[in-house]
Amino acid sequence: MNQDIFVLVEHLRGQVADITYVALAQAQSLAVETGGKVIAVLFGGNAVELSKNLAADMVLHVESPVLAEYTCDAYASALTGLIKEKSPRAVLMGDTTMGAEVAGVLSARLGMPLISNCVSIKGGKFSAKICGGKMMVEGELPAEPVLVAMVPGGFRVEQGQAAKAPEIKTSPVPDLSGVRVAFKQYVEPEGGDIDITTQKILVGVGRGLQNGDNLELAEELAEALGGAVCASRPVVDQGWLPTTRLVGKSGKAIKPKLYLALGISGAPEHTETITGSEMIIAVNTDPAAPIFDLAKYGAEVDMLDLMPALSEAVRKAKGG
Ligand SMILES: Cc1cc2nc3c(=O)[nH]c(=O)nc-3n(C[C@H](O)[C@H](O)[C@H](O)COP(=O)(O)OP(=O)(O)OC[C@H]3O[C@@H](n4cnc5c(N)ncnc54)[C@H](O)[C@@H]3O)c2cc1C
Repeated sequence: MNQDIFVLVEHLRGQVADITYVALAQAQSLAVETGGKVIAVLFGGNAVELSKNLAADMVLHVESPVLAEYTCDAYASALTGLIKEKSPRAVLMGDTTMGAEVAGVLSARLGMPLISNCVSIKGGKFSAKICGGKMMVEGELPAEPVLVAMVPGGFRVEQGQAAKAPEIKTSPVPDLSGVRVAFKQYVEPEGGDIDITTQKILVGVGRGLQNGDNLELAEELAEALGGAVCASRPVVDQGWLPTTRLVGKSGKAIKPKLYLALGISGAPEHTETITGSEMIIAVNTDPAAPIFDLAKYGAEVDMLDLMPALSEAVRKAKGG
């Protein structure tokens, strides 16, 4: 084992995921402790563009048609080869749909310990979220090479970004002959819906909405505020709103000026993609809901009482 820290670069359609920068920021601080280098591992084409602001000592680029688009099979196979060959101290990635999938396969395949939902590593200890973000655990960083799936909270995106592009080194392609899954196509969500990633004001509703009929109250509030309604996963799973409105790990990242989170507990899978919001206001009947940790303002009230009252107050304030 050497002391280098690998960071898997997560990218989709030419965009590096924010969590990659968070992982790079963590890798920088960990590398100071280990004395190793931060190596960003980048699969697929367009390396120069994708690498330009990665805060890494070096980008290890692997290009192959098999790696042109993400599949867990291909990424895990390529990383298996690189880890066996280079033996890094730690391999960091986002605890996203992609990162969690790849990390799980690598852990099983290589027998490496995996720290999921990791917020930070410092001084030989890690802290991670458990129970849907309601609790934090601390533990000793394993002495052997370790896989780490990061969630936001410990580092900011800008801390993992650099003004100067790192050196790109092209790596020989590891053995990918066992890869059986091939990327075919992106399936676009149904068109015609609003794009929640560009909205300035978002009213987010969670399971606290209780039933689909109450959605009307949220729509009215969003209309009064001049925004749109988005949701946590239970609301989408119930079919009350389409997947285009889903905020979170399996949905979209949002960055509105105002995010009004109503009846949303604040699970990491939801909150990891709302940190770009300029202001978060949370409304929840549970004073211990983790969403209050992220919110600038919070109110411990019933959202079903609040929504009609707030809609009316906003309409009056606007003179309507
Ligand atoms: C791999 C994976 C991917 C996932 N992806 C996503 C994702 O993309 N997006 C996502 O959101 N989740 C995702 N999840 C699910 C996530 O873990 C949580 O289960 C989900 O975010 C919880 O949604 P919620 O906060 O609406 O519901 P809950 O956690 O059930 O919280 C409901 C909240 O409403 C409050 N409440 C109840 N009644 C009222 C009321 N009348 N007024 C005010 N407050 C009230 C409660 O106190 C509670 O805090 C994912 C999970 C996994 C494992």
